[in-house]
Amino acid sequence: MADTLAQRYDEVLASVRAVCAEVGRSAEEVRLIAVSKTVGPEAIREAIAAGARDLGENRPDRIVEMAGLFPEQRWHFIGNIQSRRIPDIVGAAALIHSLYQVRHAEKIDAAAAALGKVQDVLIEVNVSGEESKSGVTPKEAQLLVEQCAALPHVRVRGLMTMAPQGDGQRARECFEDLAALAASIRAALPSDKASAFCELSMGMSEDWPQAIAAGATMIRVGRAIFSDAFSA
Ligand SMILES: *Cc1c(COP(=O)(O)O)cnc(C)c1O
Repeated sequence: MADTLAQRYDEVLASVRAVCAEVGRSAEEVRLIAVSKTVGPEAIREAIAAGARDLGENRPDRIVEMAGLFPEQRWHFIGNIQSRRIPDIVGAAALIHSLYQVRHAEKIDAAAAALGKVQDVLIEVNVSGEESKSGVTPKEAQLLVEQCAALPHVRVRGLMTMAPQGDGQRARECFEDLAALAASIRAALPSDKASAFCELSMGMSEDWPQAIAAGATMIRVGRAIFSDAFSA
């Protein structure tokens, strides 16, 4: 039983390495994003001391605040995008995981242009079709990727999804479907866009091993790192 944050972080990392070995992947291919949305700066500082380089937040005010406090880390925006907060999100995020509307893509392009940056994004796909989940349908994903390709300050790096909770087998299928969708979209892209389109953000505290087995390149782990009450 790991009882300090540093121990939990180390255990998750060790398990990630073990699962990668089991499924024949290199641990270098999988980036662990520590989702810090429920904790304060002290816990974030501990996670960074334990080795966390990538951190995730789901609210604009939080990512602005935490990226301000910890500017050396890579901050990932994984939450609902609100139009009027797009300049703040673009100012703070290395990668936006949760883009699914073209009107937001256009606003991200404008905000990134104003900052002189190219914003990396992932397209969020609602693979499971659950109403509670955001994202484009798998059928709509390709069109949105193509629409983003026309925006000079937006670079689509891949796809993101959230699996149904509580059923490992369904989660695994959901992740495999996302990987297959990404491969088919990638095959249709011109080679310069295809080489950047290589990321699959999938898997959370309860289902990241299934996600790695299905090809995740980024897993987003909150409770397994930050909560002493979590047990897998
Ligand atoms: C909160 C959150 C996570 C992390 O969830 P845990 O179950 O705490 O690991 C991952 N992705 C998104 C989009 C989230 O909102």
